[in-house]
Amino acid sequence: MNILISGCLMGMYCRYDGKTKCHDKIDALMKKHTLIPVCPEIMGGLPTPRPAAEIRDNRVINKACNDVTNQFKKGATEVLRLARLYDCSTVILKERSPSCGSNQIYDGSFTGKLIQGDGITAALLKKEGICVIGESDIDLLLS
Ligand code: SF4
Repeated sequence: MNILISGCLMGMYCRYDGKTKCHDKIDALMKKHTLIPVCPEIMGGLPTPRPAAEIRDNRVINKACNDVTNQFKKGATEVLRLARLYDCSTVILKERSPSCGSNQIYDGSFTGKLIQGDGITAALLKKEGICVIGESDIDLLLS
């Protein structure tokens, strides 16, 4: 099936720090599915590298104290558009990211503290009925 996946999990150097988080099961996944890489933060117009950002009081604030909520929302809308275009019912998104994280994100204090919650893109996709899987559960798509 067609699956959208966080670009950084697929080897794109799109993280805020200009690095990647390439997952070691990408090759196995590609044998079973068509993977389509997306990066909502880039698709929302942000550069790489960029200051780290976290969600606080329903806004996304970066470490330079700029409000980047609009860019994060634009990126989420673009990812949803592609999910529909490619008929994806499931997406694989990078855990703990303020865009891609699902179920757990950082608390907005930049101290490494995790709280329950979803990143902006993960929340939108879930609201629209799309199944969001984090990289810890990739094995579910390999069986
Ligand atoms: Fe990876 Fe998502 Fe962050 Fe882009 S926005 S770097 S895809 S976690």
